[in-house]
Amino acid sequence: MNTLFGDDPGTDVRPSKCKGHADVPGHGPAGETCGTCRYRVTLEGGSRNFQKCELTRKYWTSGFGTDIRCKDPACRLWEPKPPLQCGDDERNGAAEHQL
Ligand code: SF4
Repeated sequence: MNTLFGDDPGTDVRPSKCKGHADVPGHGPAGETCGTCRYRVTLEGGSRNFQKCELTRKYWTSGFGTDIRCKDPACRLWEPKPPLQCGDDERNGAAEHQL
């Protein structure tokens, strides 16, 4: 079944409790996830870390509502991480963020 915009959302799109995605999860490249995307960032928050999408930064809150999960299927804005440079944090492939 097509959406209002004429595209087929597919059959393997699972709703996510996390709402911090830049676009609809599952419409990106097959097999890719937020965890493999260059826009995923990890925020260190004391007792646990929080996964966020850089593209939604201006909407970030300190709550779960703007979190993403590494295992969420990629959206259409997914891009591969650039190769790690010496000194990069391996979890993000880029700069580490602190809350
Ligand atoms: S796939 Fe990338 S751009 Fe899309 S929501 Fe996940 S981290 Fe953000």
